[in-house]
Amino acid sequence: NFRCRSAFKLLEIDDKFRVLQPGDSVVDCGAAPGAWSQVAVQRVNSAGTDPELRRGTVVGIDLLNIPPLEGAHFLSSHDVTDPATHAKLLELLPNGQAHVILSDMAPNASGFREMDHEKLIVMCLSLIDLAERILQPGGSLVCKYWDGILVQKLQGKLSSVFGSVRTLKPNASRKDSSERYFLARMYRKPVR
Ligand code: SAM
Repeated sequence: NFRCRSAFKLLEIDDKFRVLQPGDSVVDCGAAPGAWSQVAVQRVNSAGTDPELRRGTVVGIDLLNIPPLEGAHFLSSHDVTDPATHAKLLELLPNGQAHVILSDMAPNASGFREMDHEKLIVMCLSLIDLAERILQPGGSLVCKYWDGILVQKLQGKLSSVFGSVRTLKPNASRKDSSERYFLARMYRKPVR
C-alpha cells in the first residue's frame, strides 16, 4: 500500500536499473507524502525486514510534513537547498555519506511552463552541490525535471561529475506531461 502513485515510477526505474541495493544509504529529496521513501525502505532493507540482508538507511526531506514511516528518518519542514539541511544530513547518514540521492522534488506549478521548468532546473542544479557534500564516489542520483530549454545545461553539469547520465520516461509517468528523470551513475567528486 503506497501513499501515492508516484511510487510506481521509482519501482519501474529501480526494477530496470537496480539503483537501490540492500544496505545502501539513501537521501529522498521532496519526500512528502512518502511513497518513494516506502520503496526505498523496502529496497535497501532499512526497516530490517529481511534479517539476512544488510540494513540500509533512508532519510527523507520535504518543506511539508512527512508522516512517520518505519525504517525512514524524516526531516519535515526542511529545504533541500538550505546548507543547514546539508549539515543535518551529514549527521544522520552513516559516515556522513549516501550511496543514492533521489529527487522527485517539484516547485508549486505556476502554470507558466517556462518558469516552472526553470525553477525545477535550479533545484536540480542544487542537488549537484548536495552530491558534493554527501554522495559517495561511485554513487547515483535520480532526479525529476520538466523538459525545456535548460535541460542541456543540467545534463552537461551532471555529465561533468557522473560517469553515466541517461534520460528516463517511466511508463507510470503521464505521456502528456513534460516530466522526465535523469539517472546519473558513477559519481566522481570534482577536483577543486
Ligand atoms: N516522491 C514523493 C512521494 O512519492 O511521495 C512525491 C513528491 S512531490 C511530487 C514533490 C515534493 O517536493 C512536494 O512535497 C514539495 O513540498 C517538495 N519540495 C519542493 N521544493 C522543495 C525544497 N526546496 N525542499 C524540500 N522539498 C521540496
